[in-house]
Parts: sequence; structure tokens; C-alpha cells
Amino acid sequence: MAIVGGGIIGCSIAFQLAVEKLKIVVLDRQQPGREASWAAAGMLSPAPDSPRDRLLVPLSKESLRLYPEFVRVIEESSGKAVDYTRKGTLQIFTGASAEAERETMLAEHSELGLASEAISLSDAHRMEPALNPDVRAVLHLPEEESVDPRLLMDSLLAAANRRVEIRPGFSVASLVEEGDRCAGVLAANGEKIQANHVIIAAGCFSGEIAGAAGKHIPSIPTRPVRGQMLALRQTHLTLRHVLRSERGYLVPRSDGRIVAGSTSEDAGFHKSVTAGGMRKIVEAGLELCADLGDAEILETWSGLRPGTPDDLPILGLTNVEGLILATGHYRNGILLAPVTAKLVKEWVVDRRTTFDTQAFSPFRFESAERKSARS
Ligand SMILES: Cc1cc2nc3c(=O)[nH]c(=O)nc-3n(C[C@H](O)[C@H](O)[C@H](O)COP(=O)(O)OP(=O)(O)OC[C@H]3O[C@@H](n4cnc5c(N)ncnc54)[C@H](O)[C@@H]3O)c2cc1C
Repeated sequence: MAIVGGGIIGCSIAFQLAVEKLKIVVLDRQQPGREASWAAAGMLSPAPDSPRDRLLVPLSKESLRLYPEFVRVIEESSGKAVDYTRKGTLQIFTGASAEAERETMLAEHSELGLASEAISLSDAHRMEPALNPDVRAVLHLPEEESVDPRLLMDSLLAAANRRVEIRPGFSVASLVEEGDRCAGVLAANGEKIQANHVIIAAGCFSGEIAGAAGKHIPSIPTRPVRGQMLALRQTHLTLRHVLRSERGYLVPRSDGRIVAGSTSEDAGFHKSVTAGGMRKIVEAGLELCADLGDAEILETWSGLRPGTPDDLPILGLTNVEGLILATGHYRNGILLAPVTAKLVKEWVVDRRTTFDTQAFSPFRFESAERKSARS
């Protein structure tokens, strides 16, 4: 089996499938784990960001349920901790209509079965003393969690390395098709790898591979959505919870760093950090925690989220025997890694899944013309 892409998705799938005693190779054109999975904030939040995200909530909740065991097995197998914390999030509202906005979100969360409670400002300041005194309303999301994606990738790679082959520097150019089945992959330098199953998990670059794939394979409309980030440290200030508003978020790490994000930009494949992006993140961060004004900026970076036309992931079997897609996780790939790995394992081993994945079908973007040509 060949997995194209060694980010959180490809490596989680490899690690899960290795338990089934399958022979697996993970192919990455660079060092694995250095793209979106390295850049992420690491919030594990099943709450929807937009009305379109509501379809994702059941899958996100299932993945959050799987997280403790996912982390336990990886940490145990690698001996490396991933800074997984389960302290909840405070959702902050600041504007003139803060209370009304909070009520709307509270009603939506209750409809979706997400744990969410309105708390008083005094309770909020007791729970999080560093919270900006100008905050107008607060929602406590007690079941949300966070993880350090870089530590998670490091730990996952160490754990996966014991069970599967990982090949950095292998750039997949196209898939090898034999009749109506996928028989392997072809590298840019002409090297061929034979495989009974090929799983495309190449994040926002997935579409480039499928484009070279051939007429039988559905196109994969992934696109890069740039997110800029920065890390801060303020020696006298500790945050206990993730703080989030409509404009940005602060995610505390156990070593005292605070990760602040983010932007959402259509900038092609350019991973630059811009003055405007940093200003937006700093302003949003100070709105959450005014005392961060004196914080030292330790690092800035950006990464490319694997976006899709409807913001939902692309998951499932294709009409080409042996080819599975696991990509387009957009803002939620760190959260969705355990459930994606579980689904792919079910497709490969059981040929069916225990979860309704219709909304994430690889065929949903196909034109009617192409669909009828295929049938
Ligand atoms: C700023 C930012 C903040 C985020 N915050 C969060 C968050 O708080 N919570 C959350 O759940 N998610 C978050 N995300 C989203 C999350 O990071 C992604 O959804 C997730 O990392 C996608 O993982 P992936 O493995 O699919 O892709 P990637 O991590 O991008 O990995 C894809 C891999 O494929 C390889 N590759 C590409 N093309 C080829 C090829 N032709 N041949 C071989 N290998 C190839 C690449 O080198 C790369 O290693 C954030 C993302 C960003 C950018």
C-alpha cells in the first residue's frame, strides 16, 4: 500500500493500518510533517465556523471522542509527549451586540449537541485571570481540547517509523492505472512503486497529483488557503484555556508559549508572512488578552490549509479500484486525523464504514455531464 503525503493525515492512516499487518510505504516529496500539519494551532474544536461546517460536526465529534486513545497509543509507542490538554475553550464576544451573539451561538451549539454554557463575566475572569477586562460576554466550551501539532507530528512519525516505511524526497507525479484499477504511483524521476492500494493524502497539493492521473479518476479540487501565525511569550502571564473570538485565537502551550492566529487568505502556494497578517493577529490577540502587549514575539510562520469548494473534506473510495482519497481537511485536519484514519482502515479492510460519509464523497463535485459519461 502506498500513501501519498506524510502529513498528519497520511501518517495517522499509516499508523492505524500498520496494526492490520499491511505492508505500507508513506511517500513525501520533502521531510514529512512540514506543511499544514506543522503550521497548525492545534485546537480540537468540533464547533462550526460557518453554516456550511454544520455537516462536519458529527464527524468532528466522533474524532474528538477518539482523541484520548489516539494520543495514548502514539505517545506510548514513540515515548514522546504531544502536549495534549483537555481544559476547554472560552469563546469571547466583544462588540455592542455581544450578548445577542452569544445567545445565537449557544442555541446553535445546543441544537448540534455541543457542550456549551454561558458564564458570567466574573466567572470568566476567575477561570482566566488574564482575560481582557473589556470583554462583554463569554461562552465556556468545556469539552474542547488542544494539542501541539509539531510535537504530535514528531511523536506520530517516530511511532509510525517503527511499523511502516517512510520515504522522504519521493515526489509523486501520477498514478499508475491498469484498466479500471490503480496499481501504484510514478515519481517525478520515473521511479515506479507498485501497490494494491493508493491513498492520496497530500493536503492542498492533492489536486496536482490527481490532475496527472487520467480520465477515470475524479478530479480533486483542493486549493491552498494561507494561514499566518505567531508565537508569543510573556513571562508573567499564563493562559489556562484556549481563547477564541470571531477575529482570532490564543492557544496556550504547556511550556508557556502562546500561539496566536490566524488569517485566511487566497494567496496561491506562497507561504509568506505579511505585515497586514501580523497586525490582524496581534490586534485580535490583544482584544482577548490586553496584557500581551509586552509579550515577546518568538516566531512567525504561515501554512497552507487544504481547502475545498464547500469547505468539507474529500473522503472515500473512488470508481478506480484500489484508490482512496483522504484530503481537503481545511481548518480541521488535526482534529479529524483519528476519524480519517479509522474510516480509511474500514474502507481498506472491511470495504464499508461505520459512519455516514455521503457528505464527503469524492464524487460530489463532478459535473452531471461527467457523471453520465462515467455511468
Ligand atoms: C495556520 C493554520 C492553523 C490551523 N489550525 C488548525 C487547528 O487549530 N486545528 C485543526 O484541526 N486544524 C488546523 N489547521 C488545519 C490542519 O493543519 C490541516 O487540515 C492538516 O494539517 C492537513 O493535513 P494533511 O496531512 O492533509 O496535509 P499536510 O500537512 O499539508 O501534508 C501533506 C503532505 O503531502 C506532501 N506532498 C504534497 N504533494 C506531494 C507529492 N506530489 N508527492 C509526495 N508528497 C507530496 C507534502 O510534502 C506534505 O508533507 C490549521 C492549518 C493552518 C495552516
